[in-house]
Amino acid sequence: MNLILLGAPGAGKGTQAEVICEALKIPAISTGNIIREALSNKTEMGLKAKSFIDAGKLVPDEVVIGIIKDRLKKDDCANGFILDGFPRTIPQAEALDEMGITIDKVIDIEVPDEKIVARMSGRRVCKQCGSSFHMVYRKPEKEGICDNCGAELMQRKDDHPDTVLERLTVYHDQTEPLKDYYSRKGILRVVEGQEEVADTTALTLKALED
Ligand code: AMP
Repeated sequence: MNLILLGAPGAGKGTQAEVICEALKIPAISTGNIIREALSNKTEMGLKAKSFIDAGKLVPDEVVIGIIKDRLKKDDCANGFILDGFPRTIPQAEALDEMGITIDKVIDIEVPDEKIVARMSGRRVCKQCGSSFHMVYRKPEKEGICDNCGAELMQRKDDHPDTVLERLTVYHDQTEPLKDYYSRKGILRVVEGQEEVADTTALTLKALED
């Protein structure tokens, strides 16, 4: 099954992507994680993306489209994949169509802006494997340490309040039109992001069956 997770930054796409990855045994692909990894390895692409990420802006379409083209060619995508954070613009969605990729479902996780701002301040990510945690909603077993790989957790620079507001504006302007794009194709499923992660997860898994 080829899936897309749509939703504002901080809506919980990463967490749901991990759950679906586990349930369906297909890889979760996060363009944000790929770019951050390139950044920490100081590759040319990573360095080019840095100023956009730090300002809460989108990295140019041709860069992320190139990333996704390469990633989807890998063997582990043969039985499907979950895209987390791609597409984020109409041209990116069109690029997927042009690659001849059929998307089976788009799960849109809806969370009001006010809740997003409150949530992002508690978000922590693993420096090494990129797993997400939250100081209130998804506490790691050991404070400040990743449950998956034992590395240190950190707050992303772009999770700071001013950048979060900019990212929300970018989301509403450039990414939200994708809801219409996929709704017209009849593959959009809306999930209300709940207070409890487990409740959102139950709704996400149900949406996959519809
Ligand atoms: P994320 O972890 O998905 O919130 O992504 C972090 C940042 O990476 C975003 O704020 C963008 O600057 C960049 N990014 C990730 N995915 C994309 C995309 N599909 N298009 C453009 N920029 C992206």
